[in-house]
Amino acid sequence: MDYTEKTLKTEDIYTGNIIKVQNLTVSLPNGKEATRDIVLHPGASVVIPISKKGELYMVRQFRKPLDAATLELPAGKLDSPDEDPRVCAERELMEETGLRAGKIEHLISIHTTPGFCNEVIHMYTATDLTQGESCADEDEFLNVERIPVGELVDMILSHKITDAKTIIGVLMAERSLRNNNG
Ligand SMILES: [Mg+2]
Repeated sequence: MDYTEKTLKTEDIYTGNIIKVQNLTVSLPNGKEATRDIVLHPGASVVIPISKKGELYMVRQFRKPLDAATLELPAGKLDSPDEDPRVCAERELMEETGLRAGKIEHLISIHTTPGFCNEVIHMYTATDLTQGESCADEDEFLNVERIPVGELVDMILSHKITDAKTIIGVLMAERSLRNNNG
């Protein structure tokens, strides 16, 4: 069976600095029509900076949609949908933590919410780290914290970390550290 939904009509609802919202009319496999609200996003990169001791560098920052501070892996949007996500990962690592990575490796790419958004997040591990100066964006205020990966897993299991990309990145980093050590 072909599950493809053909777009019959596209209505732009909102164009913001980061996202665009559209209302689509589509034809379904059974020939009927339906509407889909979708959010277009340029994509983003996440960095998992791993120290020699197996600690991860995390950022704590205020997230207005939640009206709360969160602990997350360093991350940022692609400058444009064509930007090389590796370049974006290196930039965000530098801006948010001041770290430079001797080695940066693609780990996984994830679709955060395929139900309504095309956002894709590319995740990279960063090792062989050297410290320089951080230079966060003008509207970005954050603290860097270095936390052992096992402690981060405990924080996930006790619901202290709820950011989805961070949960995935930490669990994958813990798994690869465990595999490399034994
Ligand atoms: Mg960021």
